[in-house]
Amino acid sequence: MQDKIDQLRTLPVAPQSLFIGGAWREPIGDAVLDVISPIDGRKLTTIADAGAEDVDLAVEAARGAFEKGIWSKAVPAERKKVLLKIAELIDRNALELAVLGVRDNGTEISMALKAEPGSAAGTFRYYAEAIDKVYGEIAPTAENVLGLVHREPVGVVAAIVPWNFPMMIGAWKIAPALAAGNSVVLKPAEGASLTLLKLASLCAEAGLPEGVLNVVTGRGATTGEAIGLHWDIDVLAFTGSGGVGRRLLEYSARSNLKRVYLELGGKSPNIVFADAPDLEQAARISAYGIFRNSGQVCVAGSRLLVEKSIHEEFSRKVAAIAAGMRVGDPLQLSTEAGAISSEVQLRKNLDFAEQAMAEGATLRTGGRRIREETGGFYMQPTVFDVEPGMTLAKEEVFGPILSVIPFEDEAEALRIANASDYGLASAVWTANLSRAHRMIRGIRAGVVHVNTYGGADNTVPLGGVKQSGNGHDKSLHALDKYGDLKTAWIQL
Ligand code: NAD
Repeated sequence: MQDKIDQLRTLPVAPQSLFIGGAWREPIGDAVLDVISPIDGRKLTTIADAGAEDVDLAVEAARGAFEKGIWSKAVPAERKKVLLKIAELIDRNALELAVLGVRDNGTEISMALKAEPGSAAGTFRYYAEAIDKVYGEIAPTAENVLGLVHREPVGVVAAIVPWNFPMMIGAWKIAPALAAGNSVVLKPAEGASLTLLKLASLCAEAGLPEGVLNVVTGRGATTGEAIGLHWDIDVLAFTGSGGVGRRLLEYSARSNLKRVYLELGGKSPNIVFADAPDLEQAARISAYGIFRNSGQVCVAGSRLLVEKSIHEEFSRKVAAIAAGMRVGDPLQLSTEAGAISSEVQLRKNLDFAEQAMAEGATLRTGGRRIREETGGFYMQPTVFDVEPGMTLAKEEVFGPILSVIPFEDEAEALRIANASDYGLASAVWTANLSRAHRMIRGIRAGVVHVNTYGGADNTVPLGGVKQSGNGHDKSLHALDKYGDLKTAWIQL
């Protein structure tokens, strides 16, 4: 497979346009953005920088398709056929998609293969298979009345997604929205648009009618804002940072009160008790639970809470694993952590490390930029001992930096774990079943892993509490975001 990857890595990538109403078109203002590959800091291609007028066209196309009803009123079994075909085409193009995505955002290819095309195809398949099995309801009314509860698509759904796993996260939103009969306007992140543009072609090839999926690329402050403020978008599904999430809520309030669903950041606690069943394995999985994709994972276990009796030994193990990780060329199958997605993001990570030192945190390993001679953006996996009040214990880095904090007992572990504005993911390592259940109940987060970190599939929801957001991606629950309930009250 490495040979094939090496062939694909140098293929020229044509300048990209917008996909609106089933056709490729240039942005009205002709503006473009350079795509810089984090692998070597070189320009890969350009993407269109859509303005408000382009967004208008995309929303018109989406609304037009919805009103026509070719997709929105199609029998679910018909929609299922097209969605299954999309999944098949993603699978058929998996390696090309994965390599293109890695050239765009720097994720290590071993991870990209699984998490990007692999996961996206699975998500399309899951909602394809689900949609002809979701029924409306007949309410338990009096004999002389029939109360029917219909599920209807909401209309036009906009999805704004981040750069870390564009296909996986894009599919989490597009697949259930399309399955439910909606039209979609998708805005990828500036730093990871290429695979989602390719996905638009595959959707067309699979027979998705024109206008049902539109992809508008561009900057957050222009393209994204135009979407947020649009008066004809019914639902906006977002994954990204809390700051942008706040803006989207404001945009909604200033426009048509579109429903806004937010999947935001995290500062997830990974709590290791001395009675964990296998401390070697716990150390290895904890290290990979923060450092895969260079820590650019929303659910990354970025706060490692360790019981005092094993704190020194365990922290040393994790730091040694971090120091030994193969950080390097993201297109080598043996690489364990690839590049940081952009120079700006690398600078942010290095600033966090500098600030931690200034605040008195103790550096166990890492902390520096590496492979600068490649022109790319790489950072050593970094482990700091921190105090709960320090910046690094509180703020999301979204990079390869782990904060280690000791705790005395269960009560203190829970207190530290919950002393966060975020509530996305978490983990507990213990052989004590009762303690595991107490922690599951006590931790305020959308996900609690027990004796593992980071595993999940389409059958379970992903969503946060507190400032990690609202609503859920994945599972049948995600369909709730993209459908309306309508009551029919019939006098018999
Ligand atoms: P970001 O918020 O900067 O950008 C996300 C998207 O929002 C991009 O498409 C961007 O162009 C757009 N955007 C930016 N400004 C905008 C504006 N003013 N109006 C409308 N759209 C705008 O986030 P990012 O840097 O791409 O991703 C990192 C963040 O995403 C982290 O906080 C991470 O935790 C979070 N994330 C969360 C999940 C989850 O499932 N909860 C998954 C992945 C990433």
